[in-house]
Amino acid sequence: MRHLFLLFILISSITSTIFAQQNFCSEVKSNRGRYCPESGPESIQEVLMNKYDVKFYHLNLNLERTSTDISGWVRSISIAISPLDTFAFELYNAMILDSVFSGTQKLLTAHVGNFCYAKFPTTKALGALLDIKVYYHGTPPKPGTAAIGDGITNATDASSGLQVTYTLSQPYSAEEWWPCKQSLQDKIDSSYVYITTDSANKVGSNGKLKNTVVIGNKKRYEWQQTNPIECYLISVAVTKYYDYSFYAYPVNTPPILIQNYIYDNPTTIAAMKPQFNNTKSIMELYCKLFGPYAFANEKYGHSMAPLGGGMEHQTMTTLGVINYEIIAHELGHQWFGDAVTCATWNDIWVNEGFATYTAYLAYQYLDTARAPQYMVNSHNSAMSAPDGSVWCNDTSNVGRIFSSRLTYQKGSSIIHMIRFELNNDTLFFNILKEYIRKFKGGTATALNFKKVVEDLSGKDFTRFFNQWYFGEGYPTFNLFWNQLGSRLSIINAQSTSMPSSVSLFNTPVEYKIKTTKGDTTIKVYFTKNVQGTAITIKDSVIAVQVDPSNWLLCKSSSVKDPNQLPIGINTDSPLIPDIFIYPNPSKDEITITTGTFNAPLSYRIYDALGKAVKSGVLLNANTLLDTHTLATGFYVIRVGDHNQMASKFVKQ
Ligand SMILES: [Zn+2]
Repeated sequence: MRHLFLLFILISSITSTIFAQQNFCSEVKSNRGRYCPESGPESIQEVLMNKYDVKFYHLNLNLERTSTDISGWVRSISIAISPLDTFAFELYNAMILDSVFSGTQKLLTAHVGNFCYAKFPTTKALGALLDIKVYYHGTPPKPGTAAIGDGITNATDASSGLQVTYTLSQPYSAEEWWPCKQSLQDKIDSSYVYITTDSANKVGSNGKLKNTVVIGNKKRYEWQQTNPIECYLISVAVTKYYDYSFYAYPVNTPPILIQNYIYDNPTTIAAMKPQFNNTKSIMELYCKLFGPYAFANEKYGHSMAPLGGGMEHQTMTTLGVINYEIIAHELGHQWFGDAVTCATWNDIWVNEGFATYTAYLAYQYLDTARAPQYMVNSHNSAMSAPDGSVWCNDTSNVGRIFSSRLTYQKGSSIIHMIRFELNNDTLFFNILKEYIRKFKGGTATALNFKKVVEDLSGKDFTRFFNQWYFGEGYPTFNLFWNQLGSRLSIINAQSTSMPSSVSLFNTPVEYKIKTTKGDTTIKVYFTKNVQGTAITIKDSVIAVQVDPSNWLLCKSSSVKDPNQLPIGINTDSPLIPDIFIYPNPSKDEITITTGTFNAPLSYRIYDALGKAVKSGVLLNANTLLDTHTLATGFYVIRVGDHNQMASKFVKQ
């Protein structure tokens, strides 16, 4: 009866507004029952939840390794940031809301869809402290909407035979197992997770294990963490664990506890210890490269769980697949994803692209031989399809947010390219350190990172971000070279996989020139689709390799073209921009670019037999020539009063 009464009050005053104000974003949210962090008009639930700022969550729950059944309470301490008479929060509709208290006062409540509403007897003023305790229980749903599976899962590990209950809330699934406000913009200042469970179990969670309290045949694990945290990074993992702990000793900082919860099974313990031992050197490296570990006052650790990957829960990664790379990736997240969290899911790159790149750095500095292949694999994955941006353009699709190809691999590749553009590792790592220092404890966007790059380097990275981060695709370089005497001429034509998005990638490119007497590497900067380079080199050239160190996300070919005419006029200058023809092959017109040579310049076009078929004057640095009257075939164009410059093109 009271329930019906409440429904009358609350549904009439709130849900009527919900349906009246629905927009695309909230439609996605209500259909999926998710708090959508996208920009745009707020839903009524967002409006209500944004009336308070959560400072603290205390989860006090009963949980076993044998099922996902949950009961208990969650206390939140918040500050009213505008007057409010209804306290709204998220809880999946399959869960049962038992009661809500404000201090000692029980509130009228309603659970509509995946949102709950508790009505204060009187309006809370701006600045009021809201001390809310939510009692609930139930068996969480299995909607499969988390980044890997459900918000909470019970599964059996095949090798140890142990049943494990573990959570994975990213991006929007915390509400499947605890009442919360999921907002990337409202980072919680601190959180406690207390879990009462069978005394045979151990419970892994965030922060520091303050106490284990015996309660009959059960034990309560009391984890406390005192750093800012997102809802989705709060986690638990419950089973029979063996505690394998040791310390890392970063330079100039106190020792850091590394606490690993391994399945309590002799075979697993023996197999996993060497894997987890790697955490020490990687932690010490990252502290050096990125600055102090933000959670050094607590710990870093792993809780094993039978999931198909890992999840960077703050200070306690949940790990199913265990190898060097994933340990490095998840530990990297503690800087990129945990200490600094993406401000919106559109900006997931600042979590995943960076964590993927941290694993490359772990290889580069600690297991050097494996670094090149890691980058090659990353590039191959990123280029396995022609399209897509690192910027996440659809946050309603969890698969898109966590696209391995775009968010992770292309995301990692472009950080490597920022490092290449900077051409200064001290500067590059100072940028990473400054970014962490500036945004630690909060959130950041990709453009926040760009600003740090620009502030410290003094260079404008707008074009870089437009082509590599917001833009789609990658370039392909087709290089033709020829050596006549001591003149090496290189013509390199760039095409792109998504010309409708990016028709030209402005980028430095390295060429490795292999000769009979050794190799030389030069760097040219691409500012046009066809780039010519001429250098003087006395030794006999065997090959010219594009991007020999795999800095760039690109495909390339390089062939010797014995018919290629020499380019450039000044043999004393090592790099000579010359004339270029585009497109080549062409149909009815060509563009001739004369680079740094001042127009006007005379030109003559010769056919394959050496007969002049067209001539005139190039009036500008870029001149469009009508070639529709020419027969199909091979042509040479010579430019300058003394035919100093020459190039060839094919009319189709
Ligand atoms: Zn990750």
